[in-house]
Amino acid sequence: MGVGVLRRYKDFLPVTDATPQLTLGEGETPLVRSNRLGKELGCDQLYFKLEGCNPTGSFKDRGMVVAFAKALEANSRAVMCASTGNTSASAAAYGAYCDLPAIVLIPKGEVAMGKLAQAMSYGATIIMVNGNFDVALELVRDFTFKHEVTLVNSVNPDRIEGQKTAAFEVVDDLGEAPDFLFIPVGNAGNIVAYWKGFKEYKAAGLSHKLPRMMGFQAEGAAPIVNGAPVSNPQTIASAIRIGNPASWQGALDARDASGGVIDSVSDDEILDAYRLMASKEGIFCEPASAASVAGLIKLRKAGLDLAGRRVVCIITGNGLKDPDLAVTSAVNQPIEVEPTMEALESIGLAKPP
Ligand SMILES: *Cc1c(COP(=O)(O)O)cnc(C)c1O
Repeated sequence: MGVGVLRRYKDFLPVTDATPQLTLGEGETPLVRSNRLGKELGCDQLYFKLEGCNPTGSFKDRGMVVAFAKALEANSRAVMCASTGNTSASAAAYGAYCDLPAIVLIPKGEVAMGKLAQAMSYGATIIMVNGNFDVALELVRDFTFKHEVTLVNSVNPDRIEGQKTAAFEVVDDLGEAPDFLFIPVGNAGNIVAYWKGFKEYKAAGLSHKLPRMMGFQAEGAAPIVNGAPVSNPQTIASAIRIGNPASWQGALDARDASGGVIDSVSDDEILDAYRLMASKEGIFCEPASAASVAGLIKLRKAGLDLAGRRVVCIITGNGLKDPDLAVTSAVNQPIEVEPTMEALESIGLAKPP
């Protein structure tokens, strides 16, 4: 029925009687079992968590609903975030829903068309910054420190609280935590949120093990893998084009405590996985989301044995977010014909009966 994460997971969230019960229907996203890719990878229990099914098309809504509820509870007058696109789309939507003005700072020329369209439609105040995401986040941190505006990037702990509910759902659906969780890493809030969620569920006796956390950055934006910030991060996966992740240490902690890895994948590997997801699984995700699948394919090729293992890939956002890339990168181009039977039959679409 779409009760929302605030109500469904109330006992695990910083919710009090004074917290408004907001929901745009976030959460309860499908966990879909792989039909083709898993077999090819020798992984018979591969699942995709479709976070693109959230109200604004990415997992950001889970954290945003909690951040807005707490902001309203604290009588905030406005919220602000820096964003590669999805955070701004989400903040703009909840801003409209709650009548709480949202101010979003986006790096000029770097936000995918679908995300920009959302923020503009929902009516946020959009500030285009001549600089990258990291610069924009720095500005937002300084501004919200100085002025009475609530910061709703994932450095706000309420965002992490909301996002951890996705880990709860994975366990609720599988009846146990998976063996491996593959996830893209940008600002690194989400990997921290999942790890927190898995730990809390286990502590509550609702699962009995913890997954290995397998985080993937894009090669041109891989500060955690390189061990140093990247001043000019570059990748087609704009949602993870981040050179100095806010939750850097938390990501390392999740990796080390879970026996996982944080590795990188190239743009070519991301694009391959992006196309495979759509053409072999019927799942159209955004490029950043495909980094999780690209990471799985990379480690499988390197010899990771997945037989009998339960693997979940987090598909963080919807492919419609970045329609330009979808059209320009597609292998499958439309075939143009005159509107006649002869023309249609001349293509050789089917044999006669
Ligand atoms: C925000 C985002 C990410 C990265 O998540 P972090 O918490 O910044 O690591 C990955 N994919 C999509 C689609 C996103 O919107």
